[in-house]
Amino acid sequence: MSGNGRIALVTGASRGIGKAIALGLATRGFDLVLNDIAAQAATLQETAAEARTHGGRVIALHADVSNKAQVQAMVADAVAQMGTIHAVVNNAGILRASDVENCPEDYWDSVMAINAKGTFLVVQAVLPIMKAQSYGRICNISSIGGKHGAPEQAHYSASKAAVMGFTRVLAQEVGPLGITANCICPGIILTDMGRVNLEDAAIRDAWKAKTAMARIGAPEDVAGPVAFFCSDDSAFVTGQTLNVDGGIVLS
Ligand code: NAP
Repeated sequence: MSGNGRIALVTGASRGIGKAIALGLATRGFDLVLNDIAAQAATLQETAAEARTHGGRVIALHADVSNKAQVQAMVADAVAQMGTIHAVVNNAGILRASDVENCPEDYWDSVMAINAKGTFLVVQAVLPIMKAQSYGRICNISSIGGKHGAPEQAHYSASKAAVMGFTRVLAQEVGPLGITANCICPGIILTDMGRVNLEDAAIRDAWKAKTAMARIGAPEDVAGPVAFFCSDDSAFVTGQTLNVDGGIVLS
């Protein structure tokens, strides 16, 4: 599975799963446009420097994916510097825990704005480029939380279910144009966000017991499946959702 110098945009790439995806794509020969919010400038530069050690071109651009003007400017800047975009990984996301009864309105709004609308805005910005070259790979990071979910994550679950529904219809719209669109649903992955699900040893052990592979996932576990959806090995795969969870959700 090789990137062959194709150019991939990864959002939320400064740390966690996004960083692992970026480095996984870099090792497979992709050139990279790495995104995060401006507040993560230092960590994004560190990720970009690490990715460059694998030999490809790497640029770092700031944008809040929930802001249409910033997303449009980021994509225009990426094309100006790199020439085009072949693949997009919509990874940026947030989790703010609350039960439904007490959930502040701004928790709902911010989680939906970044996880769901952010995915839509980035796809909308890159589609003209992908259409013009009759080629594109779109990989949206959803979550097993969007299928089953857990208490205090109803708004997060709704946002991730939205990403899956969006991707299924997108795949139908863009399939004839040489563009694929698929989802990855990570399970319980040890990142800053994942720690919300792993606060104490008893919770960690309970998740391990629910997992066929009997361990918590690492960010690197997500990188290979994402690279598959970004590559030509998945040329005839679209509209799909792949659980990358060590066997929590079995289908
Ligand atoms: P993370 O460690 O919190 O990293 C997420 C990254 O996205 C951070 O760098 C974050 O920046 C950035 N980001 C947040 N809002 C953004 C915005 N508006 N525009 C651009 N970038 C933004 O989370 P993670 O665990 O790696 O999660 C990555 C993705 O996987 C998310 O979509 C998440 O929902 C999904 N996921 C994670 C798990 C898990 O167990 N970890 C499971 C299933 C799905 P800040 O740090 O400044 O906010």
